[in-house]
Amino acid sequence: MEEKKPIIEVRDVAKVYGKNKALDGVKLDIYPGEFVILVGPSGAGKSTLVRLIIREEKPDSGKIRVAGRDITRLAPRELPYYRRNIGIVFQDYKLLPTRSVWENIAYALEVSDVSDEDIQRRIPRVLSAVNLSGKEKAYPDQLSGGEAQRVSIARALVNLPKILIADEPTGNLDPQASREVADILEKINCQGTTVLLATHNKDLVDRMRKRVVVMKQGRIVSDQNQGRYTC
Ligand code: ADP
Repeated sequence: MEEKKPIIEVRDVAKVYGKNKALDGVKLDIYPGEFVILVGPSGAGKSTLVRLIIREEKPDSGKIRVAGRDITRLAPRELPYYRRNIGIVFQDYKLLPTRSVWENIAYALEVSDVSDEDIQRRIPRVLSAVNLSGKEKAYPDQLSGGEAQRVSIARALVNLPKILIADEPTGNLDPQASREVADILEKINCQGTTVLLATHNKDLVDRMRKRVVVMKQGRIVSDQNQGRYTC
């Protein structure tokens, strides 16, 4: 069998804030097509690791390679292109309140060289993928939390990313809406996108039966079900 290379490779990464060791010797390999759930108590370092992988910040030491590139060396002008290949979803959706659902998603295509024709084709497709066909004209304040989060997932998908990273995406959602979000992430993963999900939501972790990486005090303390593909 052909040996796959990791799509995300974190090596001996450390990050310190003042006296706080947010990350301390973190090593993590994520392979193409995997679904990895990152868990751990508040303050364990999950969000810091996410921020380093999306290159919002740089590690103090260690290396992070994504799709074969050392992202600690990306120049500022390369960052929009780098992030375009990663879909990012946050707890608070980060939708533009004065723009419609359609405009929020189209906005994510602005740094891309996507033709108008392609935009017209892609937006209905991603809205359908998150079960929101027909909501194009709605504004964020007309959406439930679950719908708003699904719009943010659609926006993340519209650039056809190879990796989707979700940091506590169900943090503001009730159990039903959380399950809908989880089901969508699972479906996206089964269509080939690598997913990294940082969450506190124990119900989701138990239901999803994925690889679970546990962090504590800036370290990975457990990594279960490696190599499990459940699609
Ligand atoms: P988690 O996402 O698991 O809750 P974080 O990555 O947010 O954990 O935090 C890890 C540690 O780093 C905590 O001790 C937190 O207080 C600290 N930390 C994170 N970001 C910052 C920051 N911008 N400034 C200072 N300390 C921070």
